[in-house]
Amino acid sequence: MLTDDTIAAISTPLGEGGIGIVRLSGKDSIEIVEKIFTSPKHKSFKDLASYKVIYGHLKDPATGEEIDEVLVTVMRSPYSYTRENVVEINCHSGMVTLRKILELVLKGGTRLAEPGEFTKRAFINGRIDLTQAEAVLDLIKSKTDESRRIAIEQLQGGLSEKITTLRDGLKEICAHLEAYIDFPDDEIEIATRKDLVVSMKEIETELRKLIKTYDESRFFRDGLSTAIVGRPNVGKSSLLNALLQKDRAIVTALPGTTRDVIEEYLNINGLPLRIMDTAGIRDVQNVAEKEGVKRSLQSIENADLVIAVFDVSEPLKDEDFEVIEKIKVKNAVIVLNKCDLPSAFDKIALSSHLTPCDSPVLNISALRGDGLEELKDRIFNSSLTDWKEEREGVLITNLRHKIAIENAIASLGRAMSGFEETKPLEIIALELRDSLDRLGEIVGAVTTEDILDSIFKNFCIGK
Ligand code: GDP
Repeated sequence: MLTDDTIAAISTPLGEGGIGIVRLSGKDSIEIVEKIFTSPKHKSFKDLASYKVIYGHLKDPATGEEIDEVLVTVMRSPYSYTRENVVEINCHSGMVTLRKILELVLKGGTRLAEPGEFTKRAFINGRIDLTQAEAVLDLIKSKTDESRRIAIEQLQGGLSEKITTLRDGLKEICAHLEAYIDFPDDEIEIATRKDLVVSMKEIETELRKLIKTYDESRFFRDGLSTAIVGRPNVGKSSLLNALLQKDRAIVTALPGTTRDVIEEYLNINGLPLRIMDTAGIRDVQNVAEKEGVKRSLQSIENADLVIAVFDVSEPLKDEDFEVIEKIKVKNAVIVLNKCDLPSAFDKIALSSHLTPCDSPVLNISALRGDGLEELKDRIFNSSLTDWKEEREGVLITNLRHKIAIENAIASLGRAMSGFEETKPLEIIALELRDSLDRLGEIVGAVTTEDILDSIFKNFCIGK
């Protein structure tokens, strides 16, 4: 798995900008850049301290042509992102310049980096573990400040530490048990058996607590998938636009292209809402009305949250009742829109149809902006019921971690029942080892190329 070649990539987004960065990592990276670099003071990289920036020019050694005016930083092994020799070339950010510089260093003896390969090397070389590598990606992709905060906590090793402590606990139990296996004449005492089961139970409880945090904290990483539903003309599009105007989480499209956008992110008090089928919400003219309602109802199925919109200026219609039926089993917030107009709406009929679901119901005017702050609070509170308490501890946001913990709990459970059924100690020890390995997958103590590939393929090239 260890590689000794030198990799290179453009690490900044391709496009016109102030500064672009081409990054190299590997044992030859310093020499490769030195061959194409000249400095007015003829400073050699050999004398250049790590993290010192040097000003100069890049030239094509084949033609002598000057390519760009640059600043170069050398970070020597092991004090670098990858723990290898890393060189960063800060150049003018234009597509042609960046590509030309990349071409030069590739010709000089580097290989184009694969997606996430710099971070993968940081993992392989032991600078970070797998949860930290994954946190790098979460950080890059974070949609709100709270998402960023959760990612940085993981990057700083919060989850690694927790998993390592639990693994240490399991290792201790294993060692205890294996001592009895090695000396079969020593009968394991009933009191010791009980103690071991208590220790296992404690670890299981901690693992279950971690899993529980996933239900809500995953929303901060992946976004809370949200369907805004209701019959045509109730004000779905107006509501979405009113919220986006103030609380758009990230710019997802250039102006004028919004019709093609199918995903938008809203920042609701730090919680990123991924609005599903925004094209369907906005583009009513292009979707036949019946089709529009059908799509709207379908989006309810996969939603973590439904915002159901009704128009109080009109009496309830059959299509409204269809919506009500669908949202009863969902996490829903019910919005009575157009409260600036005289009401022709039967609230009692609505509540009797909603029973027994107790979703919050609130009046708003998307047009005037009334009630939007309260709507945001309701969305936050109804989607995150245990959040305050859970936020204090270590969180898991990643499905891969959740599955690994579930597998670890299953093996641990078999080990505990093995004790009760007085199965041979060897069998119990095997289950414990398996539990240990499943947790090892999370931090990368136990790993396979498949696991690594599936993680790093989601990175961009250059990270
Ligand atoms: P959609 O089909 O559910 O997306 O509904 P639209 O957002 O396109 O709104 C339908 C019509 O209702 C438009 O003419 C909006 O201007 C109007 N509308 C939306 N919200 C309000 C509101 O709060 N008050 C009033 N008076 N009109 C609204």
